[in-house]
Amino acid sequence: MINAFMVCCKKDERLVRLNAVLDRLVLTDEIKADIRTNPKEFLTDLDEVLAADTDDLLILVDKKHVLPSTYAPTDLVPVENTSYMKTNRPGHSLRKPVYEGLKTMCKAAKADGYTMLISSTYRSYQYQDGLYKRYIKIYGEEATAKFSAKPGTSQHQLGVVIDFGNVEDSFAETDESKWLEENAEKYGFALSFPKGYEDVTGFKWECWQYRYIGLQAIAMQRKWFGDINQYLHEFVDMWKKIDNVQ
Ligand SMILES: [Zn+2]
Repeated sequence: MINAFMVCCKKDERLVRLNAVLDRLVLTDEIKADIRTNPKEFLTDLDEVLAADTDDLLILVDKKHVLPSTYAPTDLVPVENTSYMKTNRPGHSLRKPVYEGLKTMCKAAKADGYTMLISSTYRSYQYQDGLYKRYIKIYGEEATAKFSAKPGTSQHQLGVVIDFGNVEDSFAETDESKWLEENAEKYGFALSFPKGYEDVTGFKWECWQYRYIGLQAIAMQRKWFGDINQYLHEFVDMWKKIDNVQ
């Protein structure tokens, strides 16, 4: 009797928490309606994603969610130049699980006839600071803010994203980019800044930047968040913040 009562209250608490999270987020009406119509199924999927995220890959970083200057991942590993994956210069590094995912994906691309070029990976706060200041000198503050991240607001500081190819819009026309569009999600990678979502992500479309989140999180992003990575991260971030709703 007591157990049944406790289970019932725990369930209610989670529903209250879910509604509180949805009330605070923008998302879209469609996404919210889907979740509110099937909260049990959603929470089951969410539990699986959070349980699978043992490497703590799901961290929201954007213009409103800023990393401290002292933040650096502790599991960075060097990225090697190989036959199946080229680097544009020495000195690249990524978080270990991200690098493992990247190697698997690039081997699959190579098997299909494409050699991926790695152009940018982990960037420290200090590196981003220097980059941003250089851009401001050339392009001015307003223009720079649209395509480059202020220090602390770049996903590169997390060590979980990769810039592929020439890091220009023309990359989208290449076979390598088309392969990524078609296949990256099969290997746990999501496009950070999709076309048409500048208002949501805070950054203009970047066909070259992919973020590793793992297969479970990709499945959740596709099923519940319109396949938009920013929405998934905003949700997870708020869910973790509101862990005790009265
Ligand atoms: Zn990038």
